[in-house]
Amino acid sequence: MDRLSSERRSWLMSQVKGINTGPEIAVRKMLFKLGYRYRLHCKKLLGTPDLVFPSRRVAVFVNGCFWHGHRGCPKGRLPKSRVEYWRTKIEANRKRDSSRVRQLRRAGWLTAVVWQCELKNPSKVLQRLVQILEAPASSLHGRKH
Ligand SMILES: [Zn+2]
Repeated sequence: MDRLSSERRSWLMSQVKGINTGPEIAVRKMLFKLGYRYRLHCKKLLGTPDLVFPSRRVAVFVNGCFWHGHRGCPKGRLPKSRVEYWRTKIEANRKRDSSRVRQLRRAGWLTAVVWQCELKNPSKVLQRLVQILEAPASSLHGRKH
């Protein structure tokens, strides 16, 4: 097996795992039922958050554990081969993620990250998001200037 095709295979495998978006959709549907209105994959906002609640200025990113380097998560573990290659790649993703969050916060947005593995428990994710969505603006650390 040459290098490129094994790299591509690892990539495909991680993508396929991410395709199972069932729980993500479940969380969205529940939010909608509760009366929250959102936009999906809002390209106008920095970093294209997966869910944006414009009236509440809340942006939510749903992150795959592998690509976004979820620390301490079994799904965020690096493959056993070409460790340096993956480490560099995923560290770059992590840096990009945190600078997006910082910039959004500076612009007065409240951000939340939902990890792919957390979606195993959609109601817990939902609870956390509702808490963020319902938090009084003045108490939010992200909204202070
Ligand atoms: Zn995870």
